[in-house]
Amino acid sequence: MIGSTVQGRPIRVRSFGHGPRRVLFIGGIHGDEAEGAYSTAQLPEAFAAAGLADVATLTILEDANPDGRAAGTRTNANGVDINRNFPAKNFDTTNPLYGSSPLSQPESRAVYDAIDRVRPDLVVVAHSWVGRQFLNYDGPARALAEQFSTLSGLEVEESTSFAPTPGSLGSYVGRDRGIPILTIEVLKGSSPEAVWGKIRKALLRVIEG
Ligand SMILES: [Zn+2]
Repeated sequence: MIGSTVQGRPIRVRSFGHGPRRVLFIGGIHGDEAEGAYSTAQLPEAFAAAGLADVATLTILEDANPDGRAAGTRTNANGVDINRNFPAKNFDTTNPLYGSSPLSQPESRAVYDAIDRVRPDLVVVAHSWVGRQFLNYDGPARALAEQFSTLSGLEVEESTSFAPTPGSLGSYVGRDRGIPILTIEVLKGSSPEAVWGKIRKALLRVIEG
């Protein structure tokens, strides 16, 4: 456990393998985007079966926003978008939806602490998007994004081209700290099993590095 939510739900991290490459996978951060939950559950077994335990240490933060998941909302129980509450240079202080200040929410603090603890070589985070699916990256992750794209069929989108994302995890981790981060946006409403079928190979490939 790395923290607890506004409503007291635990935020859990589990680690697998012991290899030198450190990868942090975040199963979800927006409560109404549960399409990746099945993939998150399948990942440890697939990681072991692929023989990656000697190559990488995989830390899974299964759900960064379990209050939102329980309520079916994008935001946490305070009505804050966790993915706008990170201490990025582009944090927007004018929108109450983003929180009054960076890391004002326990959920964003838990993710922040996980990054500090893991010191990842790569962060991967699962989301979903209405009407289309794609892969976004921040920081020095272009080559990894292209590999992921080839194996999954998800097209690569430049961060700035689809939506402004002040205070996002991608802004903070990728742009400000220079850690490669891949943001997977699967089609909202797609079956969780289909999502896993689509991203499994690609995910294992980028974890391997
Ligand atoms: Zn999202």
